[in-house]
Amino acid sequence: MKGTCHCGAVEIEVELLNGFADARRCDCSFCRRRGTIAVTARLSDLRVVRGAENLTLYQFGTRTAKHWFCRTCGNYTHHQRRSNPGEYGVNVAILEGVNPRDLGEVPWTDGVNHPSDR
Ligand SMILES: [Zn+2]
Repeated sequence: MKGTCHCGAVEIEVELLNGFADARRCDCSFCRRRGTIAVTARLSDLRVVRGAENLTLYQFGTRTAKHWFCRTCGNYTHHQRRSNPGEYGVNVAILEGVNPRDLGEVPWTDGVNHPSDR
């Protein structure tokens, strides 16, 4: 499916690994501020179609995860996971035709006790 940031500078094409079945919120120090719902894609199944040069990288802590944002509108598009660097988390809200509200109650990942910190 196609995804775009709000200003349209960045466009991605992605095939989700499990559709919306593994949609999750996360309460780690970063995600709790960002407040988005993420789904999963393999690294090989996500392509930045347009605006790669417009993406900004944010890293913190162990600097394993790579969080990507549009430098113009600030929208988070996707991130390479720390829990599984072979996967991206993808912001459901940037996906064409998806209203996160339609996902209803979305389970929380325990980001306070991150698997990589145990
Ligand atoms: Zn943008």
